[in-house]
Amino acid sequence: MNEMQVKLLKEVEEEVTHLLSDLIHINTTNPPGNETEATKYLAEHLSKEGFKCELYESAPGRGSVITRLKGTGEKPSLLLLSHLDVVVANAEEWSVDPFSGVVKDGFVWGRGALDMKGMTAIEVMTMKLLKRNNVKLKGDVLLAATADEEQDGLAGADYLLRNYPQKIFADYVLNEGGGLAIPTQSKNVYTVQTAEKGILWFKVKAKGTPGHGSMPDVADNAIMRMNKVVDKLGNYRSQILLVPTVKQFLNGLAGEDASLQQFFSRLLANPALSDQVLDELAKTAKPLAEEIRPRIRMTITPTIIHGGVKENVIPSECEAVFDCRILPGQNTTETLQLIKNLLKDIDAEKLTFEEIQKNEPSESLTETPLYDVIKSVLEEFEPNCGVTPMLMTGGTDSRFFRKMGSVCYGFQPMRPDKPYDEIVKREHGIDERISVENLVFGTSVLYEVVKRFMS
Ligand SMILES: [Zn+2]
Repeated sequence: MNEMQVKLLKEVEEEVTHLLSDLIHINTTNPPGNETEATKYLAEHLSKEGFKCELYESAPGRGSVITRLKGTGEKPSLLLLSHLDVVVANAEEWSVDPFSGVVKDGFVWGRGALDMKGMTAIEVMTMKLLKRNNVKLKGDVLLAATADEEQDGLAGADYLLRNYPQKIFADYVLNEGGGLAIPTQSKNVYTVQTAEKGILWFKVKAKGTPGHGSMPDVADNAIMRMNKVVDKLGNYRSQILLVPTVKQFLNGLAGEDASLQQFFSRLLANPALSDQVLDELAKTAKPLAEEIRPRIRMTITPTIIHGGVKENVIPSECEAVFDCRILPGQNTTETLQLIKNLLKDIDAEKLTFEEIQKNEPSESLTETPLYDVIKSVLEEFEPNCGVTPMLMTGGTDSRFFRKMGSVCYGFQPMRPDKPYDEIVKREHGIDERISVENLVFGTSVLYEVVKRFMS
């Protein structure tokens, strides 16, 4: 290893910190989003360094920005992707103004610091360094900071891919979702998001026959019918499915932590015993056990229920909404059919189904040159570290790109600066913040990865 090649880019500390503060200061709470203001800021910021930026609005105020560094075409293209919108923040709950972007105690504070303006700042800094250092690129490197990820991405990444694929499509994509290291017994294990679950949100309507509340046997109570539906779906435990990402994740953690080895080797050898094994693991490592449970099966969660109009009227209608999450390899059409089959004993003719939203699951495998580069760069920055792929239970814009054939990894390199479960909670949470140290670390690793992969 050449010591000169791998180093923390301390000299960008002020620049990247300032950039993130400015981005947080532009309130892009979605809804309404108002991302255009942030895209204008970024376009101006980048134009000062000679970048040509293109702005695209899917609707007034809903802007995304794209820029590109041309390569020779000898290598595939790489997109550095981020979203500019953030979720709502209730200022009264915070210890600082969530849109101040204040820097104190070694952290940049504010909504979006982790999800994901911190990554936007790191990616912009990486682009600037590639240009400044005149890195000879063998493939195009693109940057896109987009609108609307926190709703469903339809007015951001999906809009751009549908309308301007030649502007935004790339063979490889680096995005949010992974990168944070899990501290294990012996070492940090860095995660790379290689897969995400799909979403099937659906509504079930149960019909009945109305009647007087004093005469329950004469009517057909829709609430009682829905009660059976909720009971059946809410308690359903689908078969265990270990997708490649999750197998590698469990194997990876087991290899780094002897105390986990006994649990995960049993689970991997006999997936049917998963529930039993995770119950045992939960006695000593509850947060980890609960992280794994939803990653090995499809889940169905009742989230909304409505029924009844008056104290003494037996309702003829009751409806409930379910949040179903499926694994790569499963699909929303077959899943809805499976759900209907589960309910066929509950007077099927009195139930109707309505899809609210569906996103298919997606997965990129680890057998790629980009994954290899990520692994070797991390091992140079932190000689003893582990690297593992991981599956996210939520969704990101990566799903749109995977559908088009891109290899996508969620990778915002971060060292754990608090216990793992606390860091994860800070995303979308109160007092969201990222350490200045992690901004420098993230920029240094990302720049090295891009430089090495593209040259
Ligand atoms: Zn996000």
